Amino acid sequence: MTMPTIKAVRAFTVRGGGADYHDQGSGHWIDDHIGTPMGKYPEYRQSRQSFGINVLGTLVVEIEADDGTVGFAVTTAGEIGAFIVEKHLARFLIGRKVTEIEKIWDQMYFATQYYGRKGVVLNTISGVDLALWDLLAKVRKEPVHALLGGPVRDELQFYATGARPDLAKQMGFIGGKLPLHHVPAEGEEGLAKNIELLATMRERTGDDFWLMYDCWMSLDVNYATRLAHKAHEYGLKWIEECLSPDDYWGYAELKKNVPKGMLVTTGEHEATRWGFRMLLEMDCCDIIQPDVGWCGGVTELIKISALADAHSKLVVPHGSSVYSYHFVITRQNSPFAEFLMMHPVPDQVVPMFTPLLLDEPVPVNGRMKASALDRPGFGVRLNPDVPLHRPYAMS
Ligand SMILES: [Mg+2]
Repeated sequence: MTMPTIKAVRAFTVRGGGADYHDQGSGHWIDDHIGTPMGKYPEYRQSRQSFGINVLGTLVVEIEADDGTVGFAVTTAGEIGAFIVEKHLARFLIGRKVTEIEKIWDQMYFATQYYGRKGVVLNTISGVDLALWDLLAKVRKEPVHALLGGPVRDELQFYATGARPDLAKQMGFIGGKLPLHHVPAEGEEGLAKNIELLATMRERTGDDFWLMYDCWMSLDVNYATRLAHKAHEYGLKWIEECLSPDDYWGYAELKKNVPKGMLVTTGEHEATRWGFRMLLEMDCCDIIQPDVGWCGGVTELIKISALADAHSKLVVPHGSSVYSYHFVITRQNSPFAEFLMMHPVPDQVVPMFTPLLLDEPVPVNGRMKASALDRPGFGVRLNPDVPLHRPYAMS
């Protein structure tokens, strides 16, 4: 079988929604006094956009093969990502067979290692990697999950992340994850408000519904430990990303400190097999939550997931819609998935990457049939009505 070769690589930026899901209009729950490491500064406490959470914007990577097939993917990397793709990474793609995914990943990672390793460079590599998987699967006329070994179950089940777990329960989700609103700098009053919100949601959802708190790197070990013990009374299932991603030692301590039965989760802002090796070998958490659009793409997630499996840890990827679903459906140690509620309130289910993608499947009654993922590639299209900007045409 002769495989097509790559003839063009294009990198675009998009503003507003899309992969940079923090780039929303005002009044959205995702920017309503959510606890962050910048919350120690009162002037940056009310809005994450005030300190620049949406400064990057979305990166769209398109890779075209010489038979005319086009693969694409989206991630959070914006104009910096577009520069890296067109000025640096494209050389490892042009003229290569569409099957050379492993070698291309290795070359992208080690060629950027002197300025990369994590953060926006890995977001960018992830975007290219996902576009390559989309391209290869489209050439083979198969869904990406078929290339990953195929589904291990008939459907996905989801928990919902958003401001209204009570509404998520009515919509059929298995759990609801709240953003933590108040940081240690807001003192005892803030801690009491954090517990009060959890208590309210527990009252509205009843005892059997999962409730979780996402702390977005905003706490210290002592505060997180106190929060965990107070929240245990209200049946908090897990406490997420309490500390800086660099504080592996703090996570190891926190995991020992939390009440028996409560899970510690993290890894959303971790990258590569080496970053996750630290979390796993130092016993920092019970569930790792790599974002496939940030951790190095599907090629790297395969390795991260295998490492986690050998440590008997679950992998429940952060958000990322279809890019996560095609992986989660193929892995026994990923028994459920996250759904980010991108409706501003959120009182209804809308596609996570809306309006950027078309054909993006969403959970119905908190579930999604494997057959919803049966189109070639990742099964989504770019919405032609969303304007794309190409800042660095390859030279
Ligand atoms: Mg999170």
